[in-house]
Amino acid sequence: MSNASDTPSKGPASVAVIGAGIGGLAVATCLRRIGVDVTIYEQAPQFSRVGAGIQMGPNAMQVLSRLGLRERLGSVAYTPPALANREWDTGEVTFSLPMGDRAEETYGAPYFLLHRGDLHEALTTLVPSDIVRLDRRVTAIRELADRVTLDFQDGSSVTADAVIAADGVHSIVRQQMFSADDAVFTKRVAYRTVFPTSLMDGNPPDVASTKWWGLDRHIVIYFVSAGREIYFTTSVPDEEWTTESWSAQGDVAELREAFAGFHPEVQAVLTACPSVHKWAIYDRDPLETWHSDRVVLLGDACHPMTPYMAQGAATALEDAVVLSRCIEQLGFGRLPEAFAMYESARKPRTSRIQSESRSNHWLRRPQDTHWVYDYNAWSVPLPTPEPVSAGRED
Ligand SMILES: Cc1cc2nc3c(=O)[nH]c(=O)nc-3n(C[C@H](O)[C@H](O)[C@H](O)COP(=O)(O)OP(=O)(O)OC[C@H]3O[C@@H](n4cnc5c(N)ncnc54)[C@H](O)[C@@H]3O)c2cc1C
Repeated sequence: MSNASDTPSKGPASVAVIGAGIGGLAVATCLRRIGVDVTIYEQAPQFSRVGAGIQMGPNAMQVLSRLGLRERLGSVAYTPPALANREWDTGEVTFSLPMGDRAEETYGAPYFLLHRGDLHEALTTLVPSDIVRLDRRVTAIRELADRVTLDFQDGSSVTADAVIAADGVHSIVRQQMFSADDAVFTKRVAYRTVFPTSLMDGNPPDVASTKWWGLDRHIVIYFVSAGREIYFTTSVPDEEWTTESWSAQGDVAELREAFAGFHPEVQAVLTACPSVHKWAIYDRDPLETWHSDRVVLLGDACHPMTPYMAQGAATALEDAVVLSRCIEQLGFGRLPEAFAMYESARKPRTSRIQSESRSNHWLRRPQDTHWVYDYNAWSVPLPTPEPVSAGRED
């Protein structure tokens, strides 16, 4: 066992959160606000600024605003006037969803385009640094009747009253406790990069947030860092590349080749970009069970999705709020019921988004957007708690 400082202290109920990503930091913040003693275990030795943009739609901004981050994020966000959808060759606009000031009027919160590093950094300010244990990679989890034990790669262990696994798309907790990884490689890749707008020689893209729809591929281009940087991400057929990682490098020449023939505005962005990363896109079905008596999954760990609706991190943020509301309502003494309540509150929505995202037609044509963007995790009604069968034996 590790020393006492690594063991969440007794007194208030202790929760170990695995993963200091978007969902992990958010749920730790929410739980601390209702008096839960939280410790976060993160495998990375330090936080690094992943070169990516991230769209935070109104449903995500509801969460972030109430956590107190709206002003901070507003100073580094780009607020798009619209989400434009255009044909790859002619540039014809097939649908443009008004955003800007209209987002707040229509959905109750703004639509922010952010550098992922800015979002993550903002979330880290919500938790005291001494509750985040870096360089602690969980290798095994064991649930007993009255506690959960985590083993780490460095040979140490900790125990906690409960564990929230926010350990992302490759979740070890999902694999060890709930389901072997059934990821299906879509044979498509996301090239992505962030680069200074100044590299466009004073000719930045006309429309600040556009998805360019090709016959079998697309590219999404938008400003981040309050317009100082440009981000794009793609979906391109690729039978060979199977690495699902934020750090893997791609080949710019291959990328430009993949978009030869696209509209001149796209060509201009691809010509200006100096380097790219490459992420293999996998798809996974909704998971049957999200929790046991003392362990629960959150974010990509339980509902990983293709990135085609820009809702993965948004739904992780929603999970964090709803899970903490369920725990607050039922109390720590009824944890299995609280976990079940959270799963039944969240699964229909995340499964629907997983399925919609898989089909990749979001916003190509006019459609209902309210079911996604109107959702307010702080006020959405919670289901009636159901009794849960007695806990497991040691
Ligand atoms: C190309 C692309 C574009 C995207 N764009 C958007 C977008 O615009 N909007 C949006 O909402 N979503 C977007 N997403 C999805 C979004 O990135 C994810 O859904 C989101 O990061 C999930 O958050 P999470 O907290 O569940 O996981 P993560 O943010 O991945 O965090 C998991 C954390 O757990 C840590 N960890 C993992 N295993 C262990 C272990 N064994 N022990 C300890 N720590 C561990 C990891 O190091 C990491 O810090 C995009 C995804 C991709 C691939």
